[in-house]
Amino acid sequence: MTDPTSCESCGMPLETGRYCTHCTTDSGRLQPFEERFARMVAWQERRNPDQSRADAEAATLAYLAAMPAWRDHPQVTGGD
Ligand SMILES: [Zn+2]
Repeated sequence: MTDPTSCESCGMPLETGRYCTHCTTDSGRLQPFEERFARMVAWQERRNPDQSRADAEAATLAYLAAMPAWRDHPQVTGGD
């Protein structure tokens, strides 16, 4: 028995491992925050074309704040 699991970076359902293929580099490591954030903002903008850039970034940050891989990241907690 294995528990259902999800990517710790984006929440996508996974069969195994901690991160999905969208969140890792070719060598299997978690992508840098800047790259992941940029990609997720772009995805957010495609889903919500009427949304402003600032709103897309805010929505992405709020989402990442719930992800184990990012919730303690300084750019997510705003601790700069
Ligand atoms: Zn992922």
